[in-house]
Amino acid sequence: MMSRNPHSRVAAAAAMAIGIAAACVSAASSSAEGAGGLFFDDVRVFDGVRMHERADVSIRDGRIVAIGAQLTFPEGAERIDGAGKTLLPGLIDAHTHSWGDARRDALRFGVTTELDMMGDRQQLPRLKTERAAFVVTDQADLWSAGAAVTAPKGHGTQYGMAVPTLAAGEDATTFVKARVAEGSDYVKIILEDFSAHSETMRLPTLTEAQTRAAIAAAHAEDKLAVVHVSRLRDGRAAVENGADGLVHMFVEPGDAAFVAAAKRRNAFVVPTLSVIATMARADEGRKIAEDARLSPWLTRAQIDALKATYGAGAPRPDVLADAIRNVRALHEAGVDLLAGTDAGNPGTAHGASMHGEMELLVRAGLTPTQALAAATSTPARRFALSDRGRIAEGLRADLLLVDGDPAQDIRATRAIVGVWKNGHAVARPRQDAQAEAPRGETLPASAELIDDFEGTAVVGANGVWPAKFGSGWAPTTDQMAGGASVGKLDRANGALAVSGEIKPGFAFPWSGAIYFPATAPMQPVDLSDRGELVFKARGDGRTYSAMLFSGAQMQSMPSMKTFVAGPEWTEVRLPLASFNGADLARVRGFAFTAGQPLGAFAFEIDDVRVK
Ligand SMILES: [Zn+2]
Repeated sequence: MMSRNPHSRVAAAAAMAIGIAAACVSAASSSAEGAGGLFFDDVRVFDGVRMHERADVSIRDGRIVAIGAQLTFPEGAERIDGAGKTLLPGLIDAHTHSWGDARRDALRFGVTTELDMMGDRQQLPRLKTERAAFVVTDQADLWSAGAAVTAPKGHGTQYGMAVPTLAAGEDATTFVKARVAEGSDYVKIILEDFSAHSETMRLPTLTEAQTRAAIAAAHAEDKLAVVHVSRLRDGRAAVENGADGLVHMFVEPGDAAFVAAAKRRNAFVVPTLSVIATMARADEGRKIAEDARLSPWLTRAQIDALKATYGAGAPRPDVLADAIRNVRALHEAGVDLLAGTDAGNPGTAHGASMHGEMELLVRAGLTPTQALAAATSTPARRFALSDRGRIAEGLRADLLLVDGDPAQDIRATRAIVGVWKNGHAVARPRQDAQAEAPRGETLPASAELIDDFEGTAVVGANGVWPAKFGSGWAPTTDQMAGGASVGKLDRANGALAVSGEIKPGFAFPWSGAIYFPATAPMQPVDLSDRGELVFKARGDGRTYSAMLFSGAQMQSMPSMKTFVAGPEWTEVRLPLASFNGADLARVRGFAFTAGQPLGAFAFEIDDVRVK
């Protein structure tokens, strides 16, 4: 899945709407190997399949030229002492959505290859050129599905970017051929009606006939067909119709028939336990963010993402427990498992989350060595990445050197000593010192009442309605993301009236009001000495969301709490610390919004305070 939190786009869209450009600078560089190559001397080696307790590995011209005991030291090579360390193939994350800094972030944590499962189609030709080269780079290589096969208004269409869809009655073969012509490396098919994630919300999805046709079309083009599922029945349909693999473990109990079918049809599974842990609120992302072996190399945006969750719904511990049980059964049956994080989603970070995914696979019954294979040679074999994923003669020198022995404790992969891409050492600049963002503007202690909505106010030229402090209020709707919901703000009877209609057109619709606390919209204020967001609400009885936007960058995902606006004015007190993952030193906005279900809504808020 990609981010199913619509509001991650609200901040970016709001920022765009009012003309603010987000600048994102990250420093990284690489240094070339010595002209005489590299020599890893007397190191423990995981070759992609098994562990060698003591070996030497020789690198030249970007390739592994030899692995063995007591190799002759090549004159002029750079010697790297392997005592106490383990050399691994660069990791391959088999499920990502790789935008922006993703490939740079990945490489810093030893992930040298990512397999994008729905992403930017424009970059497909360039990716092929880049990954064939042996140049110095600070980016992981990327393979990509490009656009996925999904139904109109189905999963994957809700992120505000135009994507092609396969309508009922349209020819799957033509659709798949178009993806291959664009440069898709494999074909990703989405079976998702959202019933595993919501009691009420449903998304259109492909029929079984379309699924079968799309899989056949992919195979006719000599491409793998991989399938997104959340339900057992969809997983079974995909496998029985010839899918090469599933790119998620389904999040409900499986059965022996599915395991047998996956084994018989030789299907693989990319469980993506990291993102399922986010749904479960299992706090795996936070543990990665707080691991001292990883945290200094995480950008502020990665830390925000790791601590983010999906929406404000209740925790669902069962989904992780079910997924782990299913993975255990598949593993015991000998089904190929590939480590993939679904990075790009809340609770994950490119690169860093692979170390957590391997730990989760061990929790599901893989030995540490099997988890390492799931992150290296198995994805390489299943996706036919013939130049990587193992340490063997002739393969690309994409390497990860760690302290300790991950066969004893899988978390040893986090103690990174060095990363090499194409035989070149990758510079791994620490992100904590240099990327520590300044705290937000300080508010005077007297700035507590945001607005009581008494008297009149005039909307400014920037479209923002002034408040007692900060830059004020603005409407926000899903029209920014291609939706059709409408809404308006009104100052009436000394309160802020918010009304409108949630309309179909966007899978995660919203409409409401956003308040910017800093002197310029979307800039941060420091609320770390404040305790609560307090306001009064009344309305039509629906459940609404209060969202807090915060973090070092504007794209940070909001934290959400719900409140009910009933017929009588009721005070709502939301402890700021209860907004999961919020960065209270850098608060950029509060929003009060309606979402599902569709239809008209109306609520009022008054006496909004940060205390
Ligand atoms: Zn995904």
